[in-house]
Amino acid sequence: MKFNTQTIHGGQLPEPTTGAVMTPIFQTSTYAQTNLLEPQEYQYSRGKNPTRTALENSLASLENGSNGFAFASGLAAIDCILRLLKPGDEIIAGDDLYGGTYRMFTKLFEKYGLIFTYVAMSNTKNITAAITKNTKLVWIETPTNPLMKIADIKAISTAVKTINSNILIAVDNTFATPYLQQPLNLGADIVMHSATKYLGGHSDLVMGALVVKNKKLAKEIHFIQFAAGAIAGPMDSFLAIRGIKTLHVRMQRHCENANAIASFLAQHKKVSTVYYPGFKNSESYTIAKKQMNDFGGMVSFQLKENTKEKAFLFLENTSLFTLAESLGGVESLASHPVTMTHSAIPQKERDKLGITDGLIRLSVGIEDIEDLLQDISKALELV
Ligand SMILES: *Cc1c(COP(=O)(O)O)cnc(C)c1O
Repeated sequence: MKFNTQTIHGGQLPEPTTGAVMTPIFQTSTYAQTNLLEPQEYQYSRGKNPTRTALENSLASLENGSNGFAFASGLAAIDCILRLLKPGDEIIAGDDLYGGTYRMFTKLFEKYGLIFTYVAMSNTKNITAAITKNTKLVWIETPTNPLMKIADIKAISTAVKTINSNILIAVDNTFATPYLQQPLNLGADIVMHSATKYLGGHSDLVMGALVVKNKKLAKEIHFIQFAAGAIAGPMDSFLAIRGIKTLHVRMQRHCENANAIASFLAQHKKVSTVYYPGFKNSESYTIAKKQMNDFGGMVSFQLKENTKEKAFLFLENTSLFTLAESLGGVESLASHPVTMTHSAIPQKERDKLGITDGLIRLSVGIEDIEDLLQDISKALELV
């Protein structure tokens, strides 16, 4: 099956007892057992629920893995990966991580003896140089938030596995989605999603996902999912399945609209920098072109007058772009990383990374492009 068919049919069979074409919401915690000596497939919904199973099969299909897992949130999925490790184990991670991931690493898991090293992932040598005999996991996010930096998944996986094939490579694929890049095909061991974003796609659920291609790893993850219990519920699983069925058409439009907006911003006199991996002159372009099918729906830009006041003026004056955290829904959103998603990062760190007061992040939706451009244009006039 091609990707555009997998989103609709991957792992999805009509429900066997009724033939229902759409997987029903199996809103049940437990299942009648008929034989004490032979455990049934479904016993208790923390372990397995048919709606979640359908979603997990769909996820595995989309990422070309053997097993998918659905969690209560993206962060619950990351938490599960870290529980594969033990005190003293080392993790190499990007220096430009999603804020919640960084918070989990520094405020939760350092306390339990995991050791994190942060490096710029745009250069593979930074990663290989940081490997020690205790390195167990490399954590990649690409494109990054909010500066859209790109890491070369294949180059990193190959280089790391050459040094030690037991080091796990995990990729947060939230921004790209499997429509744009499939990390397991590029050498990664684990793909993680905040399904809250593009997979769900309608800003109506909070959910996380993992996909792996190795049966032994799948067994370990299933055990943690079952034993720690941060599972996705049946209603949310249903919504995610429904969202995934249109992932390919939504992503195509997200990418088209983002491309038009990035080009518009790049020539605007009140904008100094546009962060978008689809510009031929950006340092990310060559890798993005190689590992992604398109450049995604996220665009960040910095105002020439690089102040909070001007950024707030812009954000107050858009009407279609709603001021909100999150991303990946059908509706366009705008956010101010310094006061919203990245407020926990100290100013000195932010300045070093380029997350400045006049930086605005757009999650470009799938509305009509003329309306979106007009909305941005009008707000920029008032800045
Ligand atoms: C939102 C997000 C997460 C966290 O996911 P939740 O579903 O909010 O827990 C992790 N990584 C990235 C890149 C995200 O955008």
